Formats: sequence, structure tokens, C-alpha cells
Amino acid sequence: ISSEELTRAYLDRIRDLDSTYNSYITVTEDLAMNQARNADMLRAEGKATPLTGIPLAQKDIFCTEGVKTSCGSKMLDNFIAPYESTVTRNFNDAGAVMLGKTNMDEFAMGSSNESSYYGIVRNPWNPEMIPGGSSGGAAACIAARLAAGATGTDTGGSIRQPASMCGITGIKPTYGRVSRWGMIAFASSLDQAGPMTRTAEDAAMMLNVMAGFDPKDSTCVNREVPDYTADLTRPLDGLRIGLPKEYFAAGLDSRVEAIIRDAVREYEKLGATVKEVSLPSSDLAVAAYYVIAPAEASSNLSRFDGVRFGYRCEDPQDLEDLYKRSRSEGFGGEVKRRILVGTYALSAGYYDAYYLKAQKIRRLIKDDFTRAFQDVDVIMGPTAPAPAFPIGDKTDDPVAMYLSDIYTIATNLAGLPGMTIPAGFVDGLPVGLQLTGNYFDESRLLNIAHRFQ
Ligand code: GLN
Repeated sequence: ISSEELTRAYLDRIRDLDSTYNSYITVTEDLAMNQARNADMLRAEGKATPLTGIPLAQKDIFCTEGVKTSCGSKMLDNFIAPYESTVTRNFNDAGAVMLGKTNMDEFAMGSSNESSYYGIVRNPWNPEMIPGGSSGGAAACIAARLAAGATGTDTGGSIRQPASMCGITGIKPTYGRVSRWGMIAFASSLDQAGPMTRTAEDAAMMLNVMAGFDPKDSTCVNREVPDYTADLTRPLDGLRIGLPKEYFAAGLDSRVEAIIRDAVREYEKLGATVKEVSLPSSDLAVAAYYVIAPAEASSNLSRFDGVRFGYRCEDPQDLEDLYKRSRSEGFGGEVKRRILVGTYALSAGYYDAYYLKAQKIRRLIKDDFTRAFQDVDVIMGPTAPAPAFPIGDKTDDPVAMYLSDIYTIATNLAGLPGMTIPAGFVDGLPVGLQLTGNYFDESRLLNIAHRFQ
């Protein structure tokens, strides 16, 4: 099959089905068909690499030159990026096709994809349910087969949690493994991009293109990128799995727990050994995250002032009025909540009590993992406490929403790689198994995931 035929097939499917799921904000049909024709030419010339001509979807948080980049917000509804992010440039250079830009929670703040200016995304397994978030559009489009692979970003779980709820595979690499250049910043010390795919093998192929040093991102790590497909089939004999006792406690749906324990038993059959580990500070992770992430967001989002780009209010009376109304009309409720919380936590008199304290907890959480990884190679547990919940269920209760990420947030605070793979179903809704690895151990996570699939 040619890339042109494959791309056409995906575009037709998006046209027929995406009015239900709303997984795309922008479909770049003409661009995709051009890229597909170029890819077919490269293939004919013998110049193809594994992703040449493969139709992918990009989260609408990545700046794409000449294509609207909204970040799910009214604030950027009129924003056509003048430059290309490193991640999307790498895919372009590999000859991949971009089908479009996927829906997401506004500025990646959310766990259900209900805060997008472009409307909610529906879970393909049951359209009454949320797909998870913030990369809900990416997860839904893979689950509905509206792209062969997609990019997501994960600040506190936004790749792994929607992957779990949509029954797909997603990996958040080690902080610094993938360049954040041109990826609209939410919380810069936590944000990391990664692939969302059907299988671990697909994720490995995408990560091969995404990972690598980029001098344009000062936190990007200059370290060799292995071929992530090389170790996929390696046997798991002797693999040491840790199960954190804090993750199998109150709050976890017993049906989800049963699926996770079954999956771990499968790994034992594949030669792994299992032991209990402890991450004693994990109950502080959500609280610390909801100080640190909003603090960084309040700073990052100060650039949206209605002056240089993005939304500007009608008829401003003076500069103060321009700032005030552009921001109050351009941002949605959850974004404003985060800006308020973050500004408060960073203000004189409160900085030590909240921000500094949260940073100290962050160190304790990292130390917990360092200790655990002295005895085990991978930590396994649930990605989320329960399967996807009904649309509207938690929109009036931000704290209940924040608890959706109770098992994913610590990984970001520590900067570790984390992955979700499909593990089973509860009431027809997918449940994911979470794998957390040591720093730069993405190859091992992909290997462990691949052996299960
Ligand atoms: N749900 C978390 C939040 O709302 C994480 C989001 C993310 O990882 N981008 O902040």
C-alpha cells in the first residue's frame, strides 16, 4: 500500500467518525496528502526510514509552522505558529505524514479532556465516558484508529492516564530525553513529550525519532539515543518487579487491582520475580504537584498578554484594560484557577510555606524511587485508580479530578520514565498497567511492555 492510499484511508475515517469523538482540532488534509506523495517518492528512491509515509497525529501543544497551534485554548485560536517544534520537525525529517493536530485540555491542564475550548473528546470504547487527559484527543484517535500513532505530553500523567482509559500504549520518557523546544510550556520542570500508539513496538519506532539532544532546550540531555526497537524481544528472565504497597491501598478500585495483579502474575510466568517496595512519600505527591505545576504555569502563561500574539479583547481602553480583558476572556476556568493558585504560592510571604515546601517534598519523592530502584528494575502498578468516568462527573469538583493522577504524578516529580500498556477491561472499559523505570531506562520499559503484548 502506498502512503498516499494509507493517508487517504485515515483521512476518510477521520471525516466519517471524528464528528463523534472530536479527537482532532485541526485536520491538515492538503499538507498530509503532499507529505504522503513525497514519502512515496522517497520510498521509490530507496530513501525511506521506518516512519516515512506513516500517518501520525500531533498534539496541538506542538508549534507547527503555518498550521494553527491552539493548545486547546481560545487564547491561541488565531495563532499560526511561525516556527516548527523540534519534535514535529524530527517527524517531518523522518518523512512522517501529519494528519492533523489533536484535541487536548486547555494548556494541558486536566485529566478528562473536558476543558478544551474546542469541546469535549469522547472515549471510543463508550462515548458517554471521558477519554482521560490532557492528551485525550491523542488517546482517542489511536483507540478509534484515526491515526497510526500520535504524540502526547505528560506533566503529571497526561500520556499515561488517557492511554489507560482508552486502552492504548503510551510512554513518558525521562525528563530531558525529548526536546521541549516549540512545545507550549505548562510546567517546564515536569513537561515531557512521548508517543501514544497501539503497541510498544510502534512507541519504540516513534521514540527513536523523538529522542535526542537539542541545543535549543537547555534541559535536554546530551546522551546517546539507543535504538529503542533493538531490545524489544529480549527475554525477561531475572527481571525484578517492585509493587509499591502505597499504590495497592484504599482508593483503588478492586476490579482494577485484580487486573493489575493478574498482569504481574503473567510477568512471573515470563521469568520475573516480584517484591513489595515502599514509596513512603507518595501520599504527598498530588499536593506537591498542585503547588509546583501551577506555580510554573503562572509564570509560563504570563506571556499571553494580548499584545504580541494570541487573543486580544475588543476595543481596549488602556494597557491595563487590554491585559485584563484579553486574559479574562481568553483563558478558561481551569487555567485561571491554576494561575491564581500558582501566583499565590509564589507570592512574598507564602513562597516558603508552599513552593519551597513542595520542592522539599519533591526531593523526598525522588529519594523514595532511588531507594526502590536499588532492589528492583521496574515498578508496576495501576495507572489510574478507576476506569474512565462519565462525562461531567467531576467537572464541578477540581480536587476529585486532580486525584485521577494520584499514581502518575510522582513519576514526573522525580523525572523518571513511565509507561502505560493495556491490561484488561472493567465493564467494557480499558484498564492500563503502569510501568515506572529508572532514569533513561526507556529501552527496558519498552521491552517489558512488548513481551506482554
Ligand atoms: N491532570 C494533571 C493536571 O491537570 C496532569 C496534566 C498533564 O500531565 N499535562 O495538571
